[in-house]
Amino acid sequence: MKARCILCEQIDILDDNSIEAKKLKNHPISTYMCTNCSAKITTQTQKRMSNKQYMVYKGDTQTNIL
Ligand SMILES: [Zn+2]
Repeated sequence: MKARCILCEQIDILDDNSIEAKKLKNHPISTYMCTNCSAKITTQTQKRMSNKQYMVYKGDTQTNIL
């Protein structure tokens, strides 16, 4: 199946039997992100998480990951 990345709009062809393709078929609202964009976001998030000022907001509580 074909899937378009939500960030760079690159169209990838996924194997129909892959887990990612099955998730997209079962939940059409979910979005697809290509491997390049996913890796870019992962590295930037890990860089921010290594900063001591990284906060997670859940409802009314505010917790620091570290
Ligand atoms: Zn992308």
